[in-house]
This record gives sequence, C-alpha cells and structure tokens, in this order.
Amino acid sequence: MAGCMGNMETTPMSNHEAKGAAGLKLVREQIRKACAAAGREEQEVTLVAVSKTHGADVIRPVLDAGQRVFGENRVQEAQAKWPALREDYPDVKLHLIGPLQTNKARQAVALFDVIHTVDRPKLAHVLAKEMDRQGRHLPVFIQVNTGEEPQKAGVAPQDADAFIAQCRTEHGLDVIGLMCIPPVNEEPAPHFALLEKIALRNGLDKLSMGMSGDFDTAIRLGATHVRVGSAIFGGRDYASG
Ligand SMILES: *Cc1c(COP(=O)(O)O)cnc(C)c1O
Repeated sequence: MAGCMGNMETTPMSNHEAKGAAGLKLVREQIRKACAAAGREEQEVTLVAVSKTHGADVIRPVLDAGQRVFGENRVQEAQAKWPALREDYPDVKLHLIGPLQTNKARQAVALFDVIHTVDRPKLAHVLAKEMDRQGRHLPVFIQVNTGEEPQKAGVAPQDADAFIAQCRTEHGLDVIGLMCIPPVNEEPAPHFALLEKIALRNGLDKLSMGMSGDFDTAIRLGATHVRVGSAIFGGRDYASG
C-alpha cells in the first residue's frame, strides 16, 4: 500500500481513480478495528467491494491495491465490465448482491461466484436447474426482508426457515448464509441481530450484512461478508452510469 500511495504523485491518475485505492485502505483499517473491538479475527470478515456504476478505470486501481472480491447488483452491467477485467485479474471473485430475475439466471450462474439474493421458490428452482446444466454449483445466501418492507426483496422472516429448508432439500442449493438490507431510516442493529438469530437456528454461519454506513455495527453483530461501495469508491453518479 505504501508504494501505491507514493505512486499517486507521479502517475497520471485522476482523483476519482486514486480515491478507490485510498478508500480501500481506510475501509480495511476500519474493518481491522471493528474486528479487534469485537474480539474477532480479521480473516472472518470478507470485504465485498461494491463496484456498481463504476467503470474499469475506477475499479483497476482497487484491483492493483490487492482487492479481489467485488459485488455488482446488475447482471448486464457486470457482464459488460468484468470479463475484460478478469483477463488481467483471473483470481477475482464476483458476488451478485442485487435482485435476480429468473430470465437472467443463466448469465448470472455463468458470470458470478456467489449469489446473495435468493429469495423466492421460482428463483431457487431456476437457479438450481441452471447450476446443474452448467455444472457450476455456486454458494448462495438467502436474502431476508428483515424490515418486512413491501417494496423490498427478500423472504419474510417468518417464512425464512421453511424457505431455507426448501432450497436445501428440494433444490439442492449450497446455502451458506443469510443476507439483509435494513430499512434506510432505522437502526440497523436489530435487523442484523434478527438475521443472526435466523441463521443460528438454521445452522448457517455466514452473514452478508453491513454497508458503508454501518459495516462496523454489522461486524460487531457477526457479519462475515460486508458489502461496501461508496466508502471505497466515493459517490455513485447514476445519471452517467
Ligand atoms: C449498493 C449496495 C451496497 C453498497 O452500498 P454503499 O452504501 O455504497 O456501501 C451494499 N449492498 C447492496 C445490496 C447494494 O445494492
């Protein structure tokens, strides 16, 4: 990292590009501190760098700084960006963190390494079939709508146990954990705690929770995967993205 920071003065890198590497360093430091405060090992927490809306020019410096796990929320956008980047960084792992339509399942299974957003029987069924067809049995998280928000994806907390069982036994999916996105205007901690409770009683030990504003709280409450975008890359410009 020291060499990378030194390079920033001598190489023609725009501020926006340089920001990613600096942001990554800060976020990693914050993760280290949160783990120490929670008495957890740093290796227990995977940083998923959320690169949605950002182009390859912004992502490359973060790859060069050593980050290898990235999250995208749209299949088509990821398909347009990552195959070329992967030629240069073949050990990249891509996580799908956005809602998945069944008609994109084929592309998603081919492109991604982990899917965080399995949330309904039809999707579980189509994904399982597609994984069998492609011989790619990806680990998946079940998304739980902990705030029971009508507009939000995710299985309702009271339906989670049955859905998890169905994904495992009926569809043979490799369910490794649970994911949630707390309501924007609420304390995230109770949502993280609820997610952990549901995971525990279903024998799941991976928790995908925590974003730029609350990943330290999530780590305190057991997150194993934090999905951090703007704290690394800066704000997203949807108008031009
Ligand atoms: C965009 C996104 C993130 C990252 O959000 P930031 O606040 O930028 O860290 C995390 N999770 C999901 C599901 C997202 O869509």
